[in-house]
Amino acid sequence: MHSIPLSRRTALAGSAALAAAAALDVPAPSPALAQAPTAGQAPAAGQAPGFYRYKIGDITLTAIHDGFGRRPLEGFVRNAELADVKKAMAEAFLPQDALSITFTTLAIQQGGKLTLIDTGNGDSGAPTSGTWMANFKAAGFDPKDVSSVVFSHFHGDHINGFRLKDGSAVFPNAEVMVPAAEWAFWMDDARMNAAPEGMKGAFAGVRRVFGPGAKDVKQFEPGKEILPGLTPIAAPGHTPGHTVFALASGKDRMMIMSDTTNHPALFVRNPDWSAVFDMDGPQAAATRRRLLDMVSAERMQVAFYHAPFPAVGFIAKDGNGFEMVPVQWSSAI
Ligand SMILES: [Zn+2]
Repeated sequence: MHSIPLSRRTALAGSAALAAAAALDVPAPSPALAQAPTAGQAPAAGQAPGFYRYKIGDITLTAIHDGFGRRPLEGFVRNAELADVKKAMAEAFLPQDALSITFTTLAIQQGGKLTLIDTGNGDSGAPTSGTWMANFKAAGFDPKDVSSVVFSHFHGDHINGFRLKDGSAVFPNAEVMVPAAEWAFWMDDARMNAAPEGMKGAFAGVRRVFGPGAKDVKQFEPGKEILPGLTPIAAPGHTPGHTVFALASGKDRMMIMSDTTNHPALFVRNPDWSAVFDMDGPQAAATRRRLLDMVSAERMQVAFYHAPFPAVGFIAKDGNGFEMVPVQWSSAI
C-alpha cells in the first residue's frame, strides 16, 4: 500500500481528536463526528441574508447590509498617529493593517409607506460591496414599493444605489428628499470647477445620480418633520449638508446618526479623531461630540451607517470618549 488505508487515517484523526479533547478536558467526539465531511457538508458559500428588523414605537425598521470595503489604516485618521490608531484597533480586537468599513442602510415602514434612508453602493462600489439589493429582496421588499428615498449626504456609498451605472433608476415610484445644504454645495457648478482635481469625481458622481431627475428632487431644511416621526437635524462637517435624523413614534425615539462617525471602535471611542472622509475635520469633530454627548445623556437608541451590522445600539460615556453598545439580537421584532 502506498497510502494509509482509510480506516487507519480515520483512527489517526480520531486519536488526535481524543488527545485534543483530553487536553481541553471536554468529552471526546463520537466516532461519527470525527469522520471527514461528506459532499453535503461542504463549506457554505455565504452568510444568511443581511437584514435585521426592529421597532421604534409603531415604526418597523429594517437594517439592510451592503457588504464592506477595505481601507488601509495608514493615512485613514488625519489627526492621529498610526501607532495610536493600531492600538485602538487592537483594543477592539480588530486587524492592525486594514479596516473593513461596512455599509448599512435603513428601510422604514410606517402607515403603509416604505421609506429608505440612503441606498448603498449599487454597482459602483468595492467588489466586496453591492449586496444591498439581494438583502433588500430577501427581506421581502420590492424596489417598486419604495415611496420615499431620503438621503443623509451625497457621498457615493450612500447615493450610488439610487442609479445603476447604466443610468437606470432603481426606485421608479419613489419621491427623492435631500438636505438643501447638501444639494446647494454639490450642484453648484462654480464650486465644482474650483474643486481640487481629487474631488471632481465626487461632484461628477452626484450629478450622475441626481442629474436626470433633478427637477423632481425635494430639498428639506433641518428641524422640520419631513415624514411622520422623521425629523432631519443638521450635522455638518463630514460634508457641508451632512444630516442625521430623529425618529419618534409614541414614547420611543432613535437617532439615525448617518456618518457622524465612521467605525465606532475608532471614532466613537475617540470622537476628536477625523477620518479622511470628513471634509471639515474640526467641524465634524465638534458635531460628533455634540451628538454623542446628547444621545448618551438621553440613553437614546442610535443607528450608524458604518457600525458593525446590524449597526444599531446605544452610546455610553467612557473616559474622554464613548463606547457603542450593540443591541441584543432578538428573534422578536
Ligand atoms: Zn459613508
